[in-house]
Amino acid sequence: MRTSDPALSLEDVSISYGHVSAVADVTLTLYAGETLALIGPNGAGKSTLLRGITNQARKGNGKIRFGGRDISTVPPHRLNRAGIIHVPEGRQVVAPLTVRENLQLAARAAGRCPRREIEASIDLVHELFPPLARLRDTPSGLLSGGEQQMVAIGRALMARPTVLLLDEPSMGLAPVMIEVIYEFLGEHRDALGGAAVLLAEQSQIALRVADRAAVLSRGRLSFVGPISQMDESLIAEAYLGTGRAAGVPETA
Ligand code: ATP
Repeated sequence: MRTSDPALSLEDVSISYGHVSAVADVTLTLYAGETLALIGPNGAGKSTLLRGITNQARKGNGKIRFGGRDISTVPPHRLNRAGIIHVPEGRQVVAPLTVRENLQLAARAAGRCPRREIEASIDLVHELFPPLARLRDTPSGLLSGGEQQMVAIGRALMARPTVLLLDEPSMGLAPVMIEVIYEFLGEHRDALGGAAVLLAEQSQIALRVADRAAVLSRGRLSFVGPISQMDESLIAEAYLGTGRAAGVPETA
């Protein structure tokens, strides 16, 4: 449930690769408790924006605020410990480590889950993603893509996020696996507490669990607002990238 407390605010954020602009003048507020779908076609700048938030991409002059403070220059590992948890595209897990070790490591790296609660948190991950209970002692590199995505999201849960940045969790997964991931993001979202979720997707499925959407078109936001304000043509344009509404400011 969206609250009126800003969890993360972006102000005029621009990111370039050399002379190529990937994200331009993005101003956006993510509120505690909400799921905001960041949608746009291939190459729109979604991954770059998520990497920029965690300072893994070089930014221009923009500002990013978290918990009232400018985090524009705070290194990624410190943001992880502060509760901004990034699940990058391609479901990154530590391949040689078992599922259980991956979950334990994520909890320790973020340092936000008290030691005595780590086992209970692992049990919660098993409840949310039952295949992981059976696979707990299997090296994560041997799992299917869908199972690895469950581990990647499980790792994020172990880190107790305040802000969760999820980059295309459905990419390349079988429909049945997408269903498991989206059941978590929809029906079991309470497991994330009041965390704010920024969910980048190329697929319309993100709209199923989101409170609001932000449409990125060639690096610029063309729409920000409740899903109910998105008509069919805007949705089609968001995914096909024809960019009807360039330059529309944040409306809600
Ligand atoms: P996708 O869904 O395909 O991942 P995206 O919306 O996440 O797309 P980005 O991956 O952020 O888009 O790419 C935005 C633009 O930046 C694209 O034009 C892309 O070619 C370019 N780009 C991304 N990463 C790099 C890089 N490391 N070096 C140079 N250009 C890059």
